[in-house]
Amino acid sequence: MKILVATSEAVPFAKTGGLADVTGALPLVLSEKGHDVRLVLPEYTMTKKWLDSNPQFAVQRINGIDVPIKGIPIKCIVQELKHKNITVYLIKNDDYFLRDELYSTKSGDYEDNAERFIFFSRAVLKMLRLKDWSPDVIHLNDWQTSPIPLFLKTVYKDDPFYSSIATILTVHNLGYQGVFNSSELELFSGVNPAEIFTMDRIEFYGKINLLKSGIVYADIVNTVSPKYAQEIQIPECGYGLDGVLRQRSHELYGIINGIDYDTWNPSTDREILHHYNLECLENKRLNKLNLMNYFQLETGTKSPKIELDEKIPLIGLVGRLAAQKGLDILAEVFESLLSMDIRLILLGSGEEKYHRLLQKIARKYRDKISVNFGYNEELAHRIYASSDMFLMPSHYEPCGLGQLISLRYGTVPIVRETGGLADTIEEFDPLSGIGNGFTFTEYSGKALLQAIKRACYIYQHKTDWQRCISNGMNQDYSWSNSAIEYVKLYRRAVASKVRSSGIQKL
Ligand code: ADP
Repeated sequence: MKILVATSEAVPFAKTGGLADVTGALPLVLSEKGHDVRLVLPEYTMTKKWLDSNPQFAVQRINGIDVPIKGIPIKCIVQELKHKNITVYLIKNDDYFLRDELYSTKSGDYEDNAERFIFFSRAVLKMLRLKDWSPDVIHLNDWQTSPIPLFLKTVYKDDPFYSSIATILTVHNLGYQGVFNSSELELFSGVNPAEIFTMDRIEFYGKINLLKSGIVYADIVNTVSPKYAQEIQIPECGYGLDGVLRQRSHELYGIINGIDYDTWNPSTDREILHHYNLECLENKRLNKLNLMNYFQLETGTKSPKIELDEKIPLIGLVGRLAAQKGLDILAEVFESLLSMDIRLILLGSGEEKYHRLLQKIARKYRDKISVNFGYNEELAHRIYASSDMFLMPSHYEPCGLGQLISLRYGTVPIVRETGGLADTIEEFDPLSGIGNGFTFTEYSGKALLQAIKRACYIYQHKTDWQRCISNGMNQDYSWSNSAIEYVKLYRRAVASKVRSSGIQKL
């Protein structure tokens, strides 16, 4: 198939979160399976830096195009490069994209996000004509590229170049929708505002909602796990869009994300000191010893440099420090947790209140907890490779990558049963030997603490613990399986497009 993946971020060109991991890895696997996959994203400051430090990827400037915004033509340049067999298009407009962050909501600098991404969405479509390449399907991701199907079904609806292109929207996190004042409607040049500003289109409580545009106009919608696809159809998790999603429930799917098995591989990982696999876990212990020493955590032995007390588990946490990630219930039980014989290593950045709280805890329990702020790929790898357990007490979790990486590294996940965590982690049962982690349902500190205590209990029974680890390490969460599911969805999107437009695709 001819597939265009349109995204606001993709590894290695630009990343703020899991979305970039998905859009970086999926195209590569689809291409290995023989599809003509191309990727398009804006060129940010971050992208430029990556290109400057990787001059072997020569960027070709194709041509300039005009994109109408509020009826005025705005210029951008389409650039092209080959990255691992994939053709990548970078849309260059320095006024919109040459900024320190991708779309921060913290500062006032990004108040033009609606304009930036409506511009980008329209530029993607104009670029296709410039390249004279009409894909079978455009794979959209989140609110930033959600205006694309709206343009296809309004301004371009009778244009033969575009009329057979199917679209699929992946919702990576319903918590981020791209909601803007209705005055931004004029950014949709050439579209009749009265046609789109209605409750069953993109109007959302008097504002415009770009994600809703994708949900309403794309041929197929999916999310990143089957469970999350169900959850977002109920008011508690639907963030105001559950009704629209229920209306599309027959075209709403869930496909669990994969992880890049080359990047995340304990037997080759360049960021970790001692490589290991399921047959040789001794080296995982050496990584643990090394990291605990590095952070001066108490190892429970007289010769901390060379010995570890085998009874003390090391628990890791890597992630955004946001309410979504369950920091509130973790905060409730910090004191009880740290009164247990455990060690904790945290890495993350996010909301100020969690930074303050963690700093306070770190000062009080210096020997037992190491708190690290910032984004640090190398340390993340070392934490996955060294920890015995990995915490993800998320309030909600569309898919979650941390638990999948942990399974690959023989690090047992302790998760709340929500979204993708519920789909991938099953409570370990020592009697049957089935299960790959520890889970809890109720969103409370008490339930979290009980799950950690169950994990710590099994940890003391080394045969059971080894079984739990090997259950996880034997699972396959590489992209291969999920890519097959995406191809099925692309075909469905094309079929749905053919049905709705009556166009016969060869
Ligand atoms: P999100 O909701 O943030 O997208 P995911 O679990 O889907 O959560 O993906 C998060 C990804 O980002 C994981 O690969 C995780 O290891 C990584 N990550 C999160 N925070 C950090 C950090 N502070 N430093 C390094 N990697 C991080």
